[in-house]
Amino acid sequence: MSGQMSSQMNMKTVITGAHIWTGNKEMPWCEALVIEDKDILYAGEAEAAKRFAGQDAQLVDAAGKMVIPAFIDSHTHLTAVARSKWYFLLEKREYQSIEEILAIIKEYADNTPVSERPYIYACSCPTELMDRPGIDRHLMDKYVSDRPLLLCDANFHRALLNSRMLELMEIDENTPYNENSSANYGRDENGVPDGFAYERVFDFNKDLETMYENIGWQPPSESDPEVVLPVLEDFTSWGVAGICDGFTESEGTLQSIKTLEEQGRLYHYYHGMVLMENFSELETAIETAKKWQAQYGSEHIKVDKVKFFLDGTNEIGTSAVIEPFANDPEGKDCGTMNMTEDELKIVFERLNQEGLHIQIHLVGDRSFRTALNAAERAQASEKAAGRDFTTKVWLAHCELTKPEDRERVKPLGIHINFTPVWAGGAFGDAAKEFLGEERFRSMYAFNRMIETGVEVNYSSDVVDVEDFQCAAPLLGIEAGHTRKLPWEAQMREPVQERISRENLLLGYTIYNARSLGDDDRIGSLEAGKRANLCILSDNLFEVPAEKIHEIKPERVMFEGKFVR
Ligand SMILES: [Zn+2]
Repeated sequence: MSGQMSSQMNMKTVITGAHIWTGNKEMPWCEALVIEDKDILYAGEAEAAKRFAGQDAQLVDAAGKMVIPAFIDSHTHLTAVARSKWYFLLEKREYQSIEEILAIIKEYADNTPVSERPYIYACSCPTELMDRPGIDRHLMDKYVSDRPLLLCDANFHRALLNSRMLELMEIDENTPYNENSSANYGRDENGVPDGFAYERVFDFNKDLETMYENIGWQPPSESDPEVVLPVLEDFTSWGVAGICDGFTESEGTLQSIKTLEEQGRLYHYYHGMVLMENFSELETAIETAKKWQAQYGSEHIKVDKVKFFLDGTNEIGTSAVIEPFANDPEGKDCGTMNMTEDELKIVFERLNQEGLHIQIHLVGDRSFRTALNAAERAQASEKAAGRDFTTKVWLAHCELTKPEDRERVKPLGIHINFTPVWAGGAFGDAAKEFLGEERFRSMYAFNRMIETGVEVNYSSDVVDVEDFQCAAPLLGIEAGHTRKLPWEAQMREPVQERISRENLLLGYTIYNARSLGDDDRIGSLEAGKRANLCILSDNLFEVPAEKIHEIKPERVMFEGKFVR
């Protein structure tokens, strides 16, 4: 083989003229990268890189811009976003009345044939605008009557439907009304459905199925790769190459991702998690993870994690806390957990024996302590049985933690995940009622965690298309750094919990890779790793804090190829 041929076959690319932030603590910055095929061969000085790459190398001049490793979002709900991407979204701004909103929906309906959009799911109407008397299905009908229309309120606890929708769902005065439930279709004074649906009525989904049958249409499903792809493309536009699904909602998700991979259209690493709702599902979850990994596991797909919700949310008082909720008149309600410490210990032992990992949703300080206790005991018992403990125990959210427990995280090798967008000024205000002022102010104390040496990592945890814009890591970095979202006026106290830009960047890249068990290939820019990177429009360390979210990943490279 001639020299010329071999250099063409092994065409090297040199990225130069850049401020390259590597995510590698040994060499945090470098001048140039040499890339061949999917991999980084060299990271270091520009002259040495050019010598190393040789005459024929393709030079990419980054024009003095900042280059970073591609981001990893270690907790996001891909399927839920994909499923909801067809919703009609109202712009986030102030509205004077529901009529103003309905007029906007009418304009959309007038310009969109029924054949193209046979059902309009609109969200979300500010809750208070739905409270005025005289709001019912007849008002809805004045704006849209040629097809079903649903307008959801901002809390997703109540929706208003037009008459066409009720008719197609076959809901009328004969539909049973359950006096003992808050989930019902509202009634007017004559007992006729008025158009409201409260708490997603218990059999709303069955009624929706009836409607879909009647109109001969089905909402987009994640089993269709074309439904998943636009969500992945948005992630690419934000510079995200690694995704850990909040949990894998169906096998259809895996089928779609696999199809995209086979077609060469997947520019992501997909990490799936199998949901385990309670202790009795442990063995099934283990089996499912192994089955899915065997069937779908590949260079870009991995299903080696179980997801479990240990408690609920601080905003509606379903977290597990050490001191009782502030608003409990009897002063003894400390919330509940979905598993005991003993059960959780068994979960950790079994996962360790099967070579699997776990991400646990928890928000209260009692859940946090329980998870640490269980991990400590499982590690000891596995060691006593002669087995190394290699299961990654990854605690997501950790909104409320005690200082003495934070000290235990690093020695136990526990992984911590947080969603920095929540540290924005106004998020989760409802938690104040349950936690009281002082505890509320101590939430999201991640600098206290970082101080103990823990590598806190970050994610978006977006659950549908409405808050999908918050999945952009550069927005997350701004929120974590400023404790405020761009459209908010007030920052969340206390100021000393503003996380540094460097820590946020580490947490969105190499620390996430470590928690995912993928740090041998991704998360930093160094020789031997995959060439996944972003060329940013501006230097993340130099722009004013409130402009971080305006930085654009101008070019995004996935495995050696610019995909944007
Ligand atoms: Zn989640």
